[in-house]
Amino acid sequence: MKILILGAGLLGACLAYRLTRAGCSVTVAEAATPASGASGASFGWINASFYLNPAHHHLRVAAIAAHHRLTTDLGSPAPSWSGTLWFESQGAPLTRLRDDLTALGYPVTLLTAPGALEPALLTPPAQALHFPSEGATDAAPLTRALLAASGATLLSQAQATSLITQGARIIGAATPNGQILADHTVLATGTGTPALLQTIGLNLPMVPRPGLILRTNPVAFRLNHILVTPHLEIRQLPDGSLLTPCAANHQSDPTETAPDAKAASQATLAHLTTLFGPVSLADTRLAHRPVPADGLPVLGQAAPGLSLAVMHSGVTLAPLAAEALTAELTGQPHHPIWFPYRPKTQTTPA
Ligand SMILES: Cc1cc2nc3c(=O)[nH]c(=O)nc-3n(C[C@H](O)[C@H](O)[C@H](O)COP(=O)(O)OP(=O)(O)OC[C@H]3O[C@@H](n4cnc5c(N)ncnc54)[C@H](O)[C@@H]3O)c2cc1C
Repeated sequence: MKILILGAGLLGACLAYRLTRAGCSVTVAEAATPASGASGASFGWINASFYLNPAHHHLRVAAIAAHHRLTTDLGSPAPSWSGTLWFESQGAPLTRLRDDLTALGYPVTLLTAPGALEPALLTPPAQALHFPSEGATDAAPLTRALLAASGATLLSQAQATSLITQGARIIGAATPNGQILADHTVLATGTGTPALLQTIGLNLPMVPRPGLILRTNPVAFRLNHILVTPHLEIRQLPDGSLLTPCAANHQSDPTETAPDAKAASQATLAHLTTLFGPVSLADTRLAHRPVPADGLPVLGQAAPGLSLAVMHSGVTLAPLAAEALTAELTGQPHHPIWFPYRPKTQTTPA
């Protein structure tokens, strides 16, 4: 079967990898270069402690397991499974989150002397939650490794301008360099998805969610976990630098307009300095999270010959989403865990 994947972020790359391994002939057409969208500016936290409802939590738990399967198959780059220390709040909100996650069966421990685990914190919190099963990955190198290992044909600088129909069926996409025809087309186009769907009269409501991510220069101390603090989520990269989105609770950050980069970086550096002592700025990057209007993922067939794979927390979810969509497209059972997220695309009013 010939599959056309539009978009070479982590979703498109995971799909290319799984579909080629299932025997499909895959072409990936990317408007710019691989991982040039959200995947290249992501915090990369793989977690299920953030969730919108119990089914969404269980999806994310399954997604953690899918990352381990992907590493078994692909090898490097592998995520770092450092676990998370969560002390965004103290007191009742902290114990409530512990109780909720325990009731869902998630591994979580309440620590009463968390400073011993993170000696770099100048003022350790009184309590923290430890989520030992969580980790992080650098989505850009993972995207590139998956595309290379897949053997798929990659077309960079190949922006799809419209979808091509034959009767009710989608048979490919038009690019400035010509048409690309396929038995099935997958939109892994992140925030570019609504514009492509409009070309066939479908509408996928999405919300604007710009995010600024900041990297410091390498620091002398070591962080042993991903940290969720009252103002920032922080992790350390292999070169010793710190990575942090310039917004607390960044996965549900409702801000619709891009922050002022200078003011946001100054505030973020001030928070980091309070936590660890002086740190210096390496760079910031602005990206747009692909967030469907209800905040939940969208995965599956939207029209004959056309599937969608659009989601926030896509770093967490991409390997599992790729397994499920590959199963659906190759006639295998589609895991029921994804049923709530099937596309509910609406016909655009005339
Ligand atoms: C600041 C920030 C922090 C984040 N932190 C986390 C986190 O900690 N954990 C987590 O799980 N998720 C996180 N996310 C979300 C996660 O990064 C995204 O959900 C994920 O990267 C989406 O991958 P994608 O492949 O769907 O989209 P993208 O990486 O955006 O890729 C889509 C690609 O499609 C291409 N494209 C668009 N339109 C067209 C077209 N017409 N033709 C061809 N190509 C097209 C784009 O150029 C782009 O390369 C974060 C995102 C941001 C911005």
